[in-house]
Amino acid sequence: PAHFIVFFIVSRLMSFIGKLRRSKNSLPCEINSLGLRANLRYDLEAIRLASTDYGNIVHESPSAVLYPTSIYDIIELIKFSNECPLPFNVAARGHGHSVRGQATAHDGVVVNMLSLKEHYKNGNGIRVSTSGNYADVGGEQLWIDVLKATLEHGLAPVSWTDYLYLTVGGTLSNAGISGQTFLHGPQISNVHELDVITGKGDFMTCSEDKNSELFYAVLGGLGQFGIITRARIVLAKAQKRVKWLRMIYSDFSNFTGDQEHLISTKGLEYLEGSLMMDYTPANNWRSSFFSPSNESQITSLLKKHGILYCLDMVKYYDDETVNSVDKEVQMLQEGLNFIPGFTFTRDETYVDFLNRVRRGEITLKSKELWDVPHPWLNLFVPKSHILDFNDGVFVDIIHRQKKTTGPLLVYPTTKRLWDDIDKMSAVVPDEDIFYCVGLLHSGSFDDWQDLDNQNNEILEFCDRAGIKMKQYLPHYKSKEEWIKHFGPKWNTFQERKAQFDPRMILSPGQNIFNYV
Ligand code: FAD
Repeated sequence: PAHFIVFFIVSRLMSFIGKLRRSKNSLPCEINSLGLRANLRYDLEAIRLASTDYGNIVHESPSAVLYPTSIYDIIELIKFSNECPLPFNVAARGHGHSVRGQATAHDGVVVNMLSLKEHYKNGNGIRVSTSGNYADVGGEQLWIDVLKATLEHGLAPVSWTDYLYLTVGGTLSNAGISGQTFLHGPQISNVHELDVITGKGDFMTCSEDKNSELFYAVLGGLGQFGIITRARIVLAKAQKRVKWLRMIYSDFSNFTGDQEHLISTKGLEYLEGSLMMDYTPANNWRSSFFSPSNESQITSLLKKHGILYCLDMVKYYDDETVNSVDKEVQMLQEGLNFIPGFTFTRDETYVDFLNRVRRGEITLKSKELWDVPHPWLNLFVPKSHILDFNDGVFVDIIHRQKKTTGPLLVYPTTKRLWDDIDKMSAVVPDEDIFYCVGLLHSGSFDDWQDLDNQNNEILEFCDRAGIKMKQYLPHYKSKEEWIKHFGPKWNTFQERKAQFDPRMILSPGQNIFNYV
């Protein structure tokens, strides 16, 4: 007890001295004598940009923003924070496309990772190995740039997100999912090796065989253990074009039955699904698939059914397979239970297909509807309860309340392909097949709270109905909720935090260890 009392008094004293020595920006004055000082910005524009994100709901100002010109700036910053009696928080900000302030650092320093991207413009940020079928990619790189660079070698990553203007470090800190996940696993399962600057400021290379504890901690680790500065990404032969089919269903069990059938069938490269509601147009910003005449046909169908479900599937093809692709697609469609006649096809380049959400972004930006609040809710729902989820959430909450106009996604994936998921920080339900559900609400500054109340209602419904779902891109306010989220992984998550970021410096905006 005597030791404990001494430790307690000394640490309180040090914290008090630390506070006294803070500069006006609440960072220790000595920060301005570090080598990185020229790359720190305190101006309003830099602070404003780093205070919020795509969600536009949380606003937390840092004291400064680091625009690193090399990874050594980041190492110096984190080491310096560790040396302070009262360390300040540090958050990597990739492209800031979180929705709940996950990349903010209240009173700390936000590291603007895109500044490294600018610095590596000469091509150092992405290096392709054609013999190894991999690319070494800076954590700050956008997936669109990874695509462009790898295509020059006739290669491309195999696992994607729907939207490519996200950083490699940002998606690997979550999972990185899309319609290819059922076939290749998420992006976190398609990484050979990482370079990471830990919360202690140590630079470490890690993989399955080397510093594996750090490797698995960081994948899906919500930025808690280190800053990813390089990832070695799996590549395969790039494709040229795609046949993209959309089939419409009025019956949810036919729709999910066909989705599950298709993900167990060979020959398909992409599968997703979405909902259309009778109170919104058939085309939405994220997907304007239908011609005006198709749209009117679908609108009358929507009047009859209230909700329709779209199954999207894609088959890649190139010069060698151009003559057989239609036949293959036809075979894949055989026996499916969509509404007869309601199947639509698009044929486009592989790049346009992968970059499809960008088109919607440009449209929304032109209407000033991109930078609105986005109270998104993303869930992984076990297959065993997906029908209950449809009845309770899509039909009884969302369609009845008619509040949300954003895209609603629902598609299955299989845990078998989430390699080493038990060792990684990422969390998924305890069933082999689970559904990725994205309620991608776009709100206004007046009504986003209503949408968020609806989200809470959905979460409460799942609890009541015994649906053991997991949140993806999770957002919780209390420690108890995080413990429940991580379940049996919580102890390991905590131990890894103590090992790699013992002073709890990194990514405070996740609210896992630092509550606001
Ligand atoms: P940020 O928001 O900047 O950061 C996210 C978290 O990661 C923060 O905690 C941050 O501190 C940490 N972080 C950032 N960089 C690093 C790094 N280098 N090392 C360690 N930690 C770091 N997700 C999917 O899986 N599939 C999708 O299809 C998909 N589509 C999306 C579409 C849109 C329009 C948007 C806005 C988001 C989408 N997302 C999707 C979610 C997205 O993957 C995550 O929000 C991701 O974190 C965003 O990447 P970012 O670079 O903007 O990260």
